[in-house]
Amino acid sequence: MIKFENVSKKYPNGVTALKDVNLTIEQGEFVAIIGLSGAGKSTLIRCINRMHSISDGTLTVDNEDVTALGSKELRRFRRKIGMIFQSFNLVTRISVLNNVLVSSVPELSFWRKLTGSFTKEDKIRGLEALDKVGILDKAYTRVDQLSGGQQQRVALARTLAQNPSIILADEPVASLDPVTAKVVMDDFKRINKEMDISVLINIHHVDLALEYADRIIGIAKGEIVYDGPSSDVDQEV
Ligand code: ADP
Ligand code: ADP
Repeated sequence: MIKFENVSKKYPNGVTALKDVNLTIEQGEFVAIIGLSGAGKSTLIRCINRMHSISDGTLTVDNEDVTALGSKELRRFRRKIGMIFQSFNLVTRISVLNNVLVSSVPELSFWRKLTGSFTKEDKIRGLEALDKVGILDKAYTRVDQLSGGQQQRVALARTLAQNPSIILADEPVASLDPVTAKVVMDDFKRINKEMDISVLINIHHVDLALEYADRIIGIAKGEIVYDGPSSDVDQEV
């Protein structure tokens, strides 16, 4: 469960990106966060895994106070939260499988990561994650040979391999064409339903948000202005 209580975030430059946010997200929900550019969507999700720190209020994940985590605890904490970006953030010149393994096996030495000498168990875990997003056949292909949609699915497999309970996605389909965007959204939906992973997704396509998410959170100028089931949203809005 993710809980924001009176959370505010002011950046060092004086911009207030979140104002008195109160929000509870239960395990297994599929939530879309919608709002104009600059509304605070990205700040909201990046506070959850402490890529950004909050300035005021209380933020807990599974009853752990996110602000109080020391650096060692933060590393453990972040392993249960997968993060997906608009730009995929993959290492394009190595294989798909190595991308999945490099970040999901944190205890590996730098040398083993560099040479790709993974254990059989690691490889099986990576291949299973690729299978879940339908790109097992690309395991030994270099990432720069793949389409954008395939690359986003590699990023998704990479987070699955770390066995997360939450996936945060910051505009994951913004750079994809409409057909490919739906393929990737289908993956998010399947992962959410079949694996009981909470999915929080920032998305500026309201139509996709309504089609895929169970709950819509609207944010404007750092404040929550709408929160309800997607089935309640007037399609004309
Ligand atoms: P969205 O994701 O909805 O586009 P953001 O969370 O990125 O919104 O931004 C919210 C506000 O905070 C904007 O005014 C933006 O310019 C500002 N902002 C975002 N990131 C930073 C940062 N790292 N430092 C200072 N201001 C920031
Ligand atoms: P803190 O108050 O703990 O520095 P911030 O939210 O300001 O928290 O920053 C969190 C992280 O985001 C830091 O690692 C910082 O380097 C990074 N960061 C801050 N501003 C920017 C920016 N404009 N662009 C990219 N990263 C940023």
